[in-house]
Amino acid sequence: MKIDVRAVAELKVTCATCRACCCKLEVMLITETGVPDYFIEIDAWGGEVMLRLEDGWCAALDRETYMCTIYEKRPLICREFETGSAECLDERQGLLSEGGRV
Ligand code: SF4
Ligand code: SF4
Repeated sequence: MKIDVRAVAELKVTCATCRACCCKLEVMLITETGVPDYFIEIDAWGGEVMLRLEDGWCAALDRETYMCTIYEKRPLICREFETGSAECLDERQGLLSEGGRV
């Protein structure tokens, strides 16, 4: 039996073991999706971004489950960030280099 190695590698990419590392990125709000005001801050250029707390994560992230607490209202950028994409793999690599498990 042949096993497609590329398919196996892709299957390993899952948010379940990633500790939401992409939720530490700056998230600009470029469309209105209903994000509550208390999760929004204004950046140095006057643009709206998701508020991040001192631990680096987005304020809307549940720190125990690593789930988004505003999933239905999350920003467009979060909706378009694909699991397994080059950006996702970059973030996971960063977590790995910090000693995390991906
Ligand atoms: S970096 Fe990728 S695997 Fe990790 S939480 Fe974000 S989308 Fe999921
Ligand atoms: S809004 Fe949700 S999906 Fe987007 S960065 Fe914050 S916690 Fe993550």
